Amino acid sequence: MATFKDFRNNVKPNWCPGCGDFSVQAAIQRAAANVGVVPEELAVVSGIGCSGRISGYINSYGLHGIHGRSLPIAQGVKMANRELTVVASGGDGDGFAIGMGHTVHAIRRNIDVTYIVMDNQIYGLTKGQTSPRSEMGFKTKSTPDGSIESSLNVMELALTAGSTFVAQSFSSDLKELTSLIEQGMEHKGFSLINVFSPCVTFNKVNTYEWFKENLTSLNTIENYDPNSKVQAMNTLMEHNGLVTGLIYQNTEKPSYEEMVQGFNEEGLTKQDLTMDETKFNQL
Ligand code: SF4
Ligand code: MG
Repeated sequence: MATFKDFRNNVKPNWCPGCGDFSVQAAIQRAAANVGVVPEELAVVSGIGCSGRISGYINSYGLHGIHGRSLPIAQGVKMANRELTVVASGGDGDGFAIGMGHTVHAIRRNIDVTYIVMDNQIYGLTKGQTSPRSEMGFKTKSTPDGSIESSLNVMELALTAGSTFVAQSFSSDLKELTSLIEQGMEHKGFSLINVFSPCVTFNKVNTYEWFKENLTSLNTIENYDPNSKVQAMNTLMEHNGLVTGLIYQNTEKPSYEEMVQGFNEEGLTKQDLTMDETKFNQL
């Protein structure tokens, strides 16, 4: 049985001191150990950006891919070797701008990949430009008078795209983040975990203090039911997306690989789907 130390390597991260991505790295290492995988059973695939370096800092199989393309690679890895626990990771620019087409289709496809986005509301690697997650009015080098575009509410989008696992966390809450990544790894299907991971160098608005003041934990909402998509959507809208915890999970919908004929004898077969198409379309 591996411990989180077994997922460490000797590469020193070159993130800025205080960057939120350090905690995400630690949480992935802890979660992998907690779910009982060993380094050779884990693959971490990342995109481009400061956060994209993460695949090089974890002792596992890893691939630092191209911009916005962590998900096609990760899905290919999973389909080629379904015994692997596959993590895809990157930043908000990587996943929600150039990579957004892949994100939406990975969500609806529901391949068993855990996608962890380090969301700092900015492009950090290129020294501070507005990202799709930047709030309207946000001033950067690319928007000196303030952004005139709206921020994309990715959690709401994930729900409407048919996601079976939607969670959000904050990099300074290592315990919750580790637990959510564990749940994502154990979920049979695609899991999206958006992590508020502050860029201490270029984002002077969405700081650790800002998140502590503005985030609401779902644990504080009485009778919150993560199996209710309606409650999930209402809660996201009420809090402008600024919630942390397991937002929504659907354990009924089979994963993509469970539906591939001949892979899982107990899974749905093509014949089952034909016979019960109405039910399948509702999933
Ligand atoms: Fe982290 Fe920002 Fe530094 Fe990049 S520039 S390593 S996101 S703090
Ligand atoms: Mg970013």
